[in-house]
Amino acid sequence: TMPFDPHSIRDQFPILASEVNGQPLVYLDNAATVQKPRVVLETSLAYYEETNANIHRGTHHLSQKATAAHEAARDRIAHHLNAASPDEIIFTSGTTDGINLVANILTGSISAEDEILISALEHHSNIVPWQMLAQRTGATLRVIPVLEDGTLDFGAFQDLLSPKTKLLAITQVSNAFGTPVPVKDYISAAHAVGSLVLVDAAQSVAHKVIDVQDLDADFLVFSGHKIYAPTGIGILYGKTSSLENLPPWRGGGEMIKEVTYESSTYNELPFRYEAGTPNIEGGIALAKAMDWLSDLGLPSVAAHEQLLIETAAASLADVEGLRFYGPSHRQGSLSFNIAGIHHYDLGTLIDQMGVAVRTGHHCCQPLMNRLGTTGTVRASFAAYNTMEEVEKLVNAVKKAAMMLA
Ligand code: PMP
Repeated sequence: TMPFDPHSIRDQFPILASEVNGQPLVYLDNAATVQKPRVVLETSLAYYEETNANIHRGTHHLSQKATAAHEAARDRIAHHLNAASPDEIIFTSGTTDGINLVANILTGSISAEDEILISALEHHSNIVPWQMLAQRTGATLRVIPVLEDGTLDFGAFQDLLSPKTKLLAITQVSNAFGTPVPVKDYISAAHAVGSLVLVDAAQSVAHKVIDVQDLDADFLVFSGHKIYAPTGIGILYGKTSSLENLPPWRGGGEMIKEVTYESSTYNELPFRYEAGTPNIEGGIALAKAMDWLSDLGLPSVAAHEQLLIETAAASLADVEGLRFYGPSHRQGSLSFNIAGIHHYDLGTLIDQMGVAVRTGHHCCQPLMNRLGTTGTVRASFAAYNTMEEVEKLVNAVKKAAMMLA
């Protein structure tokens, strides 16, 4: 097969033609959010121009059209994840929202003797909701340790597992270091002690083909804005057998069957977890973004991104005092520091040269503490990034390092 050519898609992203500080923009903050192709933006606009109505309740034509488009999007997303049924696809506002939903509906399933397991690589959004659940229930939160190379200690994980483990919440790719986590191995080990597993796919969904049946995850969450779709939309995949006996969380319209002033009965999946008017346009745009990415070929896009990361790492390796974080095989993100230079200063200087990277703790303060730093410089890659941009990044970092040394 032909290697993927990012130049063939760049004109679908008008924002990439921007100038920043008088320089052409080099956008390498894709792990924070990716830019959206025009076809996705047009899908949002067309929805409002041609379809906009509230869903599931209307007898009129537009309401039925909006409902059909919304449910077709759910089907499309289920297909993308290879879910057994579209009823396992719950629309949320993003990764954070999905994790909070699961943490709340599990409250009644957790008691004071139980343990909740997370990993040292987790984003704050996959830490804090579990701390809150532990506080509500008296359960203990335990953490799978990270090794010096930014990978997780699988042996220590196995030692932490016990019949007390009720939930494992783990990322598929670290947003701070790009560490890929072999979540399938973690899931089967956790299932062997009777634990449920939630996978944070925020950083994997744009770079990996995800098959929820193959993974056998109970829950899997991600944000649309990380996969070329708008902000404010996300997905919670929940395996039917894991979700069907759990209570609702938010109350409101759509999640009910019958309401009286005294009590209510609740709707079936997935509607039980979708109180209120959802982000209808966002779900439709997310389905379109998945079409767009599938048409490009996710595996060849991922191979292209891999080449960019490896080239950037190889070209930066000879910078004096530069330390990479994470293992040599990384996905999406490349994280580093240069001895004696603050990550913020480096990031600010290369922004002056038009290169957008992220600096700081990347919402992973405990992980940064563990590796003895306050933060890193993170360059993160998407389908539209080019080898010329990698060269610009490398030159900018080298120039900034000289200026700051
Ligand atoms: N988990 C990971 C691994 C992430 O990278 C992010 C976004 N930086 C989140 C969770 C939170 O996503 P959101 O802010 O879209 O809810």
